[in-house]
Amino acid sequence: MRLILFGPPGAGKGTQANIIADKYKTAHISTGDMLRAAVSNGAELGVLAKSYMDKGELVPDDVIIGIINDRIKEEDAQNGFMLDGFPRTIAQANALDEMLSGASQSIDAVVSIEVRDEVIVERILERQKIEGRDDDKEDVVRNRLNVYRNQTEPLKSFYAEKSILNEIHGMGTVDEVFGRIDEVLSNL
Ligand code: ADP
Repeated sequence: MRLILFGPPGAGKGTQANIIADKYKTAHISTGDMLRAAVSNGAELGVLAKSYMDKGELVPDDVIIGIINDRIKEEDAQNGFMLDGFPRTIAQANALDEMLSGASQSIDAVVSIEVRDEVIVERILERQKIEGRDDDKEDVVRNRLNVYRNQTEPLKSFYAEKSILNEIHGMGTVDEVFGRIDEVLSNL
């Protein structure tokens, strides 16, 4: 199973991704987590990425595409994977298509978790108190949301045209949201 988990910041993608990875035994590939690891290692990539992440801007496409291209070739991704936080632009989506078609593969489903903006800002500010992520400050969160609505959300029509888009209501408990996702995945 090859899956894309989609949705605005704070929609609960990371939480749901962990539950899905557990049940479906699929590799969880989170570009945000990979970039944060590079930042904390002090890797060159991390220094570059941090300058974008701290403002809530996207890291340049060529950088992210390179990371994903390497990552999906790894052993644990051979029987399927779940992308969390990628693709975020049309250029990234096109690059992903090319990588996969080169290996005669394709995406089986896109699951888009839908949550309203006011709820997102509230949730992320709560998370800031617990996790203290540098990009969870209110002005940065609002910018991440703008970037999502302008650059990333248009990808929904890209995947709707391929008839693989599944929109999931993202309000309610973690279990309720997972139940809705599971219904989609178990029918694939
Ligand atoms: P969230 O979905 O909560 O905004 P992520 O952890 O997915 O957070 O991403 C955090 C930041 O990492 C983004 O704001 C962006 O700067 C960078 N990033 C992650 N994935 C990508 C991507 N596919 N393309 C460009 N930048 C990315």
